[in-house]
Amino acid sequence: ATPMAVMVATGLAAKRGCLVKSAEALEVSARLDVVVLDKTGTITKGQPSVRAAACCAEAFATLEQAWEALLGSAEGAPKRRSAPATSSSGPTVQLIGAEDVCSSNGLEDCFWWILGSLESASDHPIARCVLTAAQEVPGLPPLAAPQDFEVTAGRGVRCTLSQLGGVTARVGNLTYFMESMPEQASQTNQELLQWMEGMQQQGNIVVLLHVDGVPLGAVALQDPVREEASWVVSYMERTLGAEVWMCTGDNTATAQCIAAQVGIRHVMAEALPTTKSECVAKLQRPRRRGERPRRVCFIGDGMNDSPALAQADVGVALGVGAHIAVEAADVALVRSELGDCVTFLALSRATFRTIL
Ligand code: ADP
Ligand code: MG
Repeated sequence: ATPMAVMVATGLAAKRGCLVKSAEALEVSARLDVVVLDKTGTITKGQPSVRAAACCAEAFATLEQAWEALLGSAEGAPKRRSAPATSSSGPTVQLIGAEDVCSSNGLEDCFWWILGSLESASDHPIARCVLTAAQEVPGLPPLAAPQDFEVTAGRGVRCTLSQLGGVTARVGNLTYFMESMPEQASQTNQELLQWMEGMQQQGNIVVLLHVDGVPLGAVALQDPVREEASWVVSYMERTLGAEVWMCTGDNTATAQCIAAQVGIRHVMAEALPTTKSECVAKLQRPRRRGERPRRVCFIGDGMNDSPALAQADVGVALGVGAHIAVEAADVALVRSELGDCVTFLALSRATFRTIL
């Protein structure tokens, strides 16, 4: 392609909200072998909402006294509530092992209070969504500011709650539980695990709350798939002839359900930011000895995706919010529209393919 053609294409792309940082990115994009898509926020809208929750009565037994004390000291809060806290419009909450109704009194409130307090310190999309759900529970005591707050990337968050007798609360995926509390994790309530698995198989993001190593419950969040995702995947496969992968930090069952919904056949789940870039590097290797390396495009949104965006031959960052991701990317899609990557890829092909 002539420098003029590249200039025109870059200008056209910019008009459509695709900021291309180099002529090289435009050229490589015309001959891609593999496209890797992030799940949360890229294939899905990145706007999860709480679908359902499950609480364990058994775990509440050790917390009940501290919870009663907290309620007693919270100004204006009811001393004890008999009716379930969750409003009819809120998520459905399943009680596990709640035959002993006495000990489940206050369980739901306590569950949402701990979750809300813990997630109030995190800026992850999961955290914001869980916090909103907790804030909507009527009559809950004011949420606490978590102490010793700690994030484990791709796993979950932890804090101490002095208001509740100094317990340590953790929320995150099962891997996080197994890595931080291997002994307790192996004894997790079977009914709770089954509830979690069922929710994951339906494509929900499921996170588990445990307090001092005892699971108190889990939340299932639904992040809707972008309407254009299936069409984008089929364009990449059929028109570009590229191999399409999903790469996500989320659980395998959830990832596979979402992948199936949009027609993606290759899935890499439970990835950390570093393993996402390793995944890209692996896909770049020639398939057979003597062949050239494969050209890989990574499309992601989150700040977590920066190493993968940088590793890819072409890194495409979706949406303007994540500035770090934009810096590591070769192409920045100003709008948060997955379809815009097709605009860019089509322009790049039109520029470089016709002249070959
Ligand atoms: P993705 O690759 O889907 O963008 P992340 O790397 O951001 O995912 O997170 C991966 C997983 O880590 C989440 O699916 C969730 O299980 C867990 N996680 C991370 N942060 C939090 C949090 N603040 N609260 C609960 N779970 C979290
Ligand atoms: Mg992400």
